[in-house]
Amino acid sequence: MTENIQGFNTRAVHAGQEFEPRTGAVVPPLHFSSTYAQDGIGNLRAGYEYGRGGNPTRDALQEQLAALENGTHAYSFSSGLAAEDSLIRALAEPGDHIVLGNDAYGGTYRLISKVLGGWGIGNTPVDMSDHAALKAAIAANKTKLVWVETPSNPMMRISDIKAIAEITHAAGALLVVDNTFASPFLQQPLDLGADVVVHSTTKYIGGHSDVVGGAIVVKDPVLAEAIGFIQFAVGAVSGPMDAFLTTRGLKTLGVRMRTHSENAMAVALWLEKRPEVQAVHYPGLPTHPGHELAKAQMRDFGGMVSVQFTGGEDAARTVAEATRVFTLAESLGGIESLMNYPSEMTHASVKGTELAVPVNLLRLSVGIEDVEDLIADLEQAFAKL
Ligand SMILES: *Cc1c(COP(=O)(O)O)cnc(C)c1O
Repeated sequence: MTENIQGFNTRAVHAGQEFEPRTGAVVPPLHFSSTYAQDGIGNLRAGYEYGRGGNPTRDALQEQLAALENGTHAYSFSSGLAAEDSLIRALAEPGDHIVLGNDAYGGTYRLISKVLGGWGIGNTPVDMSDHAALKAAIAANKTKLVWVETPSNPMMRISDIKAIAEITHAAGALLVVDNTFASPFLQQPLDLGADVVVHSTTKYIGGHSDVVGGAIVVKDPVLAEAIGFIQFAVGAVSGPMDAFLTTRGLKTLGVRMRTHSENAMAVALWLEKRPEVQAVHYPGLPTHPGHELAKAQMRDFGGMVSVQFTGGEDAARTVAEATRVFTLAESLGGIESLMNYPSEMTHASVKGTELAVPVNLLRLSVGIEDVEDLIADLEQAFAKL
C-alpha cells in the first residue's frame, strides 16, 4: 500500500504502519520478544530469528524513516552517536580520513577525534562555506567521508548540500549529512546528492523528549549492506519500546515542524529588535548569511534559534537561568521549549578546541507552545539584565 503514497504527511502516518492482520489492530503491536519460534531448523515464519538481527517494531520505524528521507534503507540505533559510530565503522577503516564542518556537534567531533581517532581514523575540521578549503582538505588527505551538518549546531550556519556533494563525489568520497536540525520534513539531503543521512532521532523525529535514538538512511544497496552488517554485528540497535515511541513521534513530524518554524521565526524577529542582543542566528531572517541557500534547500527554517548578548557571558547566563516556560536543559527538538548554554552544556566537550562556541551564546529550541507565552517569558527574563 505504501508505495503508492506520495505526500510527506501521508507517508509519515502510513509507511511501515500496516494494521496487524490477525486482530485488525490499527496500530501495529509492540513486539518485545527477543527470539522467534522456528517451524523447522532455519524455517522462519516471517524472516525473524533473533532480536538483534531483526524486530518488527524496529522494522516499522526503519520503513517509515526510509520513506520520509526518500531513501531505500534505514537503520535504527540506540542513540545518534551509536548510529554515527556504526556508520563510520561500516564505511571507513583505519587509515581513512574524514573532513567535517568546524562547527560540528561537539559529541560528533569527540567521537571522531577521541574514539575513532584511536582506531586510526584521521580528521580535518573545515569551514564548509569555504569550498576551496574543503577541496584542499579532501585532496591533501585522500578523504573517505565528508561530514556536513546543516543547519549547524549551535551557530545555525547553512551549508550548500548540492555543491558539497559535487566536490565530494569528484574526489571519490562519500557525503554524510547530519539532518537532525532540519528533520526530513524541512530538508531531504539524499535528493540533493548526499550519500548518507544520519539523525539523532532523540530530537525532532522523536519530538517529545522521551526517547534517545539514532538512525542512518541510504538509497544505495551497497552502502545499505555494509551498514546493515555493522548494525547486526555490533548490535547498537534501538530497543522495541524506543522504536515504538520514535515511530509514534514521527507520525506528527510535519504538523510539529510547521509550528516550531512559525514560533521560531516570531522569537527570532523579537530578539533581533532588542538592544541586549548582539546577534541572532536564524536562517529564516533575511539578514542571515545562509538565508537564500536555506530558502533553496529547505521547506522552512526550523525551530532552532541562537542568540549572542552584548552583555557577554553574564547576560547569557542570567537569561538562561531566568526563564520559566523555556526549561534550562540540554537537547532540542521536543514540543516543549528548551534553553541551553552551549559553552558549558552541550558543547562543553569542545571547549578550548577550534570547535569552541562563544561564551555569550544561548541556544533556544523553540517549542510548540503559544508564541505569546514564549515571548512574554523572554521579556521577563530580559528584564533581569
Ligand atoms: C544530539 C545530536 C547528536 C547526537 O545524538 P544522540 O542521540 O544524543 O546520541 C548528533 N548530531 C546532532 C546535530 C545532535 O543535535
